[in-house]
Amino acid sequence: MTELSVSGLKALAYEQFEQGHFAEAAELLEVLESRIGQQASLSNDLAVAYYRKGEHERALARFREAAELQMQAASLLTANLTDMLEGMLGRAGAPALPVNPLPHLSTSFCPLCQASDAGFSPLPGFYRENAERYGFRYFGQGEMTAQRTYFCAGCGASDRERLYAYWLVLALARKQLSRDAAVMHFAPEPGLSRWLRRQGFRHYQTADYAMAGVDYRADLMDLPFDDASLDFFICSHVLEHVRDDRQALAELFRVLRPGGAGILMVPVILGLEAIDEDPDVTDEGERWRRFGQGDHVRLYNRAGYIERIGQAGFELTLLGQDYFGACTFESLGLKPESLLYIVRRPDEGDHTGPEHA
Ligand SMILES: [Zn+2]
Repeated sequence: MTELSVSGLKALAYEQFEQGHFAEAAELLEVLESRIGQQASLSNDLAVAYYRKGEHERALARFREAAELQMQAASLLTANLTDMLEGMLGRAGAPALPVNPLPHLSTSFCPLCQASDAGFSPLPGFYRENAERYGFRYFGQGEMTAQRTYFCAGCGASDRERLYAYWLVLALARKQLSRDAAVMHFAPEPGLSRWLRRQGFRHYQTADYAMAGVDYRADLMDLPFDDASLDFFICSHVLEHVRDDRQALAELFRVLRPGGAGILMVPVILGLEAIDEDPDVTDEGERWRRFGQGDHVRLYNRAGYIERIGQAGFELTLLGQDYFGACTFESLGLKPESLLYIVRRPDEGDHTGPEHA
């Protein structure tokens, strides 16, 4: 059997639609979508077809999706137009036009390597094996860490790196972040770091306590940077290794300029009552048992982590599936519960300074 061409499929689908055969029309539109990817108008037509055939839940989901796709397209269009005009007006520093970061045109998408439909590979079995071996009770209960879709099959980026890159593309496009920003990447993930270097940041640097090849050898509890010297930082999955995370948070706050922001992430365990920590536990097996990894000294619950961020003086924005859209999350291979923690040091004159105990 010869496969129908895309235009043939389309014609057939709308013919069925015209004739009031909404079930057939929906089926054909679904096939069409699997061939050409998601599009706002297609999602809208699917919503109408489902509505007309009485599937209201599906109709609603498709309408939402259409609206999301439309909004994202509009914000990119705005960003592209602005960039283009700035370029034409000869203004210095007009960034390159953002590439279309809409990943939900495919079933899987990696914003780091741009691989579409390459799929993801699971978290290495080693983590589950060690959790079982040492009796870590919370394995699989992380807010993030998608076990079945952990690594990008194209470049090996983790689920959280994909989320950061996706947000960074949007933040650049929307001018929430500038390529002129002084950016510090703590404990830089190699893939994300290479990707960041390709984004054209003019002041991107890296820092770590032990890692080779970084720009600064730095202890998060005693940073070698001036007050208010950074515009933006990425500090992901570091605080759970640090002896005194409150001190580390105070340092991050100090070195960030008022109005500056950062991606500040730790592994958060859903269903954990309170932060469990003990930097004096040095036995690796015991660390695996209590904190889920041999070099972690604490395990965070969501509320406890949020509280510490607030105590350091940061404003916190949590961005999840509601913000990015369910189809984006799915194509990025993220768990629906995943949250991006964006902290901001309030501008001077704001009343929310650090809380003092
Ligand atoms: Zn990738």
